[in-house]
Amino acid sequence: MRRAIFPGSFDPLTMGHLDIIERSVSLFDEIIIAVLNNPDKNPMFTPDERCEMIQEILPSVKKSECCLLVESFAGLTVDFAKQRNCSAIVRGIRAVSDYEYELRMALMNRRLEPQIETVFLMAAEEYSYVSSNLMKQIFTLGGRVEGLVPELVEAKMREKLGLGVRF
Ligand code: ADP
Repeated sequence: MRRAIFPGSFDPLTMGHLDIIERSVSLFDEIIIAVLNNPDKNPMFTPDERCEMIQEILPSVKKSECCLLVESFAGLTVDFAKQRNCSAIVRGIRAVSDYEYELRMALMNRRLEPQIETVFLMAAEEYSYVSSNLMKQIFTLGGRVEGLVPELVEAKMREKLGLGVRF
């Protein structure tokens, strides 16, 4: 049984995150999308709201044998991974700028838990500039983010900002 976690803030989930999930499903039997409970990052959505959104969106991921689960967690990623018997941590790399931070985290995590491997997947080119923070920034300033976040996420962001439904 190859079980992995894909940890992140997912505040909110973007098409970039979905792309990494779609790439991962052919590599693992089970993937836990692990939503970090990080109140100090001043998130737009609560961990429960993020988990619910992801649950609703997951059926759109192309069919495969892989089982996808969504859970929130706090604390060390490796502790959560170990607790859930995951042997791999999936992370996405968009650009060289991601690499330095991700390398440090992967090496630290390996030191903390040598049995758990970090697996890096390269972002799709069309989403390589997409981040949750950029989506929130652009959307808050009235910019269009369609095609870069799932429709449900855009609707929830509108709701959060009190913008009403768009037709
Ligand atoms: P974190 O706060 O842990 O970085 P994020 O939700 O920002 O959480 O990202 C979670 C993971 O998804 C990270 O590995 C990040 O590199 C990856 N990721 C984020 N956006 C994209 C994207 N557009 N394409 C591919 N991977 C991405």
